[in-house]
Amino acid sequence: MAVPKQRQNSSRRDRRRSHNIGKIKTQTTQKCSACGEQKLAHRVCDACGVYRGVQYKKVVTKVG
Ligand SMILES: [Zn+2]
Repeated sequence: MAVPKQRQNSSRRDRRRSHNIGKIKTQTTQKCSACGEQKLAHRVCDACGVYRGVQYKKVVTKVG
């Protein structure tokens, strides 16, 4: 496997990233189909723990 000979300095690294910084920074959020909360796409919903109609996570709800 090819191994880099020298460490790239930060300015060179940042110059490379400047072209696709939008792709790195933006995370696609979607509305949860179960609770309507904004959630990351292709991830289990943080608010209700449901993904594609299946409950994956137990969610603690405040009582009272
Ligand atoms: Zn949800």
